[in-house]
Amino acid sequence: MRAAEEHALAQAQSQAVSVKAEVEVALDTARTRAQELAATKNPNNLLTLSREQVNAMTREVLALNPQYIGVWTLWEPNAFDGQDSRYVNSKIYRPTGRFLPYWNRGRGIIEGEPIVNYETGPWYQEPRRTHQEYISNPYFYPVMGRDVLMISVVAPIVFDGTFYGVAGEDIPISFLQDMANAVELYDHTARLYLVTANSTVAAATGQPEGIGSSASRFLGREVQDYVASTSKTGRQHIVLAQGQLFAMVPIHFGHVPTPWAAVISIPSDKIYAPANQPMWRLLELASLMIIMGVAALGLVAWRISRPVSKVTEVARQVARGDLTRTVAGEERSDELGVLAGTFNHMIEQLRRYHEHLEELVRMRTSQLEVAKEKAETANRTKSVFLASISHELRTPLNAVLGFSQLLRNDPGLTEEQHSNLQVITKSGEHLLGLINNVLDLSKIEAGRMALNEAPFDLHSLLEEMRSWMHVRAVEKGLTFRVEQSPETPRYVSGDSGKLRQILINLAGNAVKYTREGSVTLRAGLARKEGSRAWVRFEIEDTGPGIREADRERIFFPFVRLGEQQITEAGTGLGLPISKQLTELMGGHIKVEGALGKGSRFSIDLPLLLLSQEAICAKPLRGAVQGLEEGQPHFRLLIAEDQLENRLLLRKILQPLGFELREATNGKEAVSIFRQWHPHLIWMDIRMPEMDGLEASRRIQGIQTSEPGPRAKIVALTAHALEDERREILAAGCDDLVRKPYRDSDILEALAKHLKARFVFKKEESTRGQPSRVLEASQLSVFPPELVEELKRSTEQLNARLCLDAARRMAEIDPGIGERLEQIVEERRFQELLELLDQWRPSEGT
Ligand code: ADP
Repeated sequence: MRAAEEHALAQAQSQAVSVKAEVEVALDTARTRAQELAATKNPNNLLTLSREQVNAMTREVLALNPQYIGVWTLWEPNAFDGQDSRYVNSKIYRPTGRFLPYWNRGRGIIEGEPIVNYETGPWYQEPRRTHQEYISNPYFYPVMGRDVLMISVVAPIVFDGTFYGVAGEDIPISFLQDMANAVELYDHTARLYLVTANSTVAAATGQPEGIGSSASRFLGREVQDYVASTSKTGRQHIVLAQGQLFAMVPIHFGHVPTPWAAVISIPSDKIYAPANQPMWRLLELASLMIIMGVAALGLVAWRISRPVSKVTEVARQVARGDLTRTVAGEERSDELGVLAGTFNHMIEQLRRYHEHLEELVRMRTSQLEVAKEKAETANRTKSVFLASISHELRTPLNAVLGFSQLLRNDPGLTEEQHSNLQVITKSGEHLLGLINNVLDLSKIEAGRMALNEAPFDLHSLLEEMRSWMHVRAVEKGLTFRVEQSPETPRYVSGDSGKLRQILINLAGNAVKYTREGSVTLRAGLARKEGSRAWVRFEIEDTGPGIREADRERIFFPFVRLGEQQITEAGTGLGLPISKQLTELMGGHIKVEGALGKGSRFSIDLPLLLLSQEAICAKPLRGAVQGLEEGQPHFRLLIAEDQLENRLLLRKILQPLGFELREATNGKEAVSIFRQWHPHLIWMDIRMPEMDGLEASRRIQGIQTSEPGPRAKIVALTAHALEDERREILAAGCDDLVRKPYRDSDILEALAKHLKARFVFKKEESTRGQPSRVLEASQLSVFPPELVEELKRSTEQLNARLCLDAARRMAEIDPGIGERLEQIVEERRFQELLELLDQWRPSEGT
């Protein structure tokens, strides 16, 4: 065979390889899916897939491969799950209920389409008959309103010789036409035809109009016969016809039994031109070559090495990511020309993959942007919902809890009323706890929980924990201990509120889940890092313990282990919140201890070490009697639309000697402020007509333009979110007190902003200090029935009733009452009995 013919065949082969590579990418996807689906038919394989999962998998392929227009799996009747009868007439499965999911983006979006013609279509019937892969003839299909030439590639789902269905993809084939147009051989006179097994032309150099029609439109009868033979027998042919040299080679795709043909045509005068020259010209040429003998040999070496080194150079540039480079010399009719052509083709392929990838990235980016936007909108909606629900729930709860607190101080209450009030308070507090827990978790999850770091006294916090938990532990007949190592730092900076919340959660759980024994809260120094101390807190109990398998799981929301009684029922949110808060503060939490041996939760938390001076504000303790002498006559304005909340503030403030005025909306507040110049304004945020934010802005506007002392504005808010706090401060409020508030929150704000000084009924609580010895005679301040009741309860060793009596005594005389409470809490019943035995009712009268 002449070199030119070999060259033509080599060109056709190189094109065939490229076409094969491109199409087989899609065939591979279909084959992989078919194999995965066939695997579910293997009885040794436990994997099962639902219709939904197959749908999802199919859509995923479409989403990940922008070049595919349709992706589908079609099943024989009842072959997928044997459940066709369940899906009869259901919209997506067609009347027979047969599983034929076809997902497509013909309109630009991925949607399910009914599939037609599967009873007759060769793309289903051929794989079904042959159990082999199949590539369809090109066909036109509307994609976003335009007819696009496509093929379908199909792989059969076969297991153990049984045919179950097919997995297929629909892909546009304009890339084949691009490849044909890129053929520039023999001064652009050579052509490439890609002919399917059915004699349809899938691409033809320079002739896009006829694509998709029969080969007879492009090729003469004789040539067509050879092409058909190539497809049938897989043989290559060289044919001289119609003044052209035709080289045709088969293109085998995967396991498709019928190959396509790649046909290269070259005008014969381009190839055989030297043969038409007069003989003498040939002789002349021959002698010239003989004369140039040795020189030619040198030249050959140079001619080979130069293009090869060019290819090497371009290869280097391509490796560096420059896909715009090509190698010159493609038109050469030798191996170097083939090398250059193949190399350029490879670059072209790379460039296309690169573009695909870019398109994929663009598509994914835009999908992500949409998803991000959706998530942000959802987040905003969630915040608004949280803010309003917290307001709706906390505002009435504020009134409920505030008034029950006030009522409990009323000495005229009957015992029954007193215990009813306790129930109200307890239920209210439980509800508040629940609202707070759900809100906290949502806030953390939405990334809106901010740290409020401030100096605090860690020893007082532990002391506070001791007195709180003690009561709860004693009520359950448990002992509660705080063990504090001497190195525990005292003055630190951190978010004490969150730390308190974590410790109460963990200690509360320990008490809740322990039936007998003790709960111990330990604090100590784990290590120091410069000015930072890693403080270790441990909460250990003698309760049921937690199985190793559950130790991770209990930190997930709403996980509650099985063995709890109804009375212990919680929300399953305490531990997840504690974990998230610990991590927010930069610490770690873990749990140890085996089942039946109690649990030990430990937390390592970094806290900033401070000196004593840094802690200036002393918390208000004990009951306040009134304002100290020698202070200005403080005027306070209450701006609040809810009557009961105005009343509550009035009840707290009026007895102490403050002068009060009230406004029921922002507008009124501004006008009272103008005339009356209060020292401080309690500003509710949500009010009709003009809200607290706007009123604060206006008042601050007036204050900046007028000389004189400035009124402080303290916002009263049931809002829960951190950015609302920022908004409130930005509107000109000096501080904010969260509803529901305690009396002490209100008084602390007054002390902070007005430097108001108060007179206390007694100096400080005696809690935490060793109780001084009590004399029986001191009990004479109490009604004898109450002392009798305490005595009876002590004789019965009923801690709960004792505590109840002692508390009522504390309301009459806090000094003695609280000491009795402490004796009961510490279960010093013997001591108490001795004391009560010495008491005689006559002593009191
Ligand atoms: P809950 O409101 O149910 O207490 P948590 O998130 O605080 O929710 O706790 C989750 C679960 O972990 C609890 O329901 C309980 O089963 C288990 N658990 C928590 N603390 C302890 C403990 N100290 N001892 C035994 N089990 C505990």
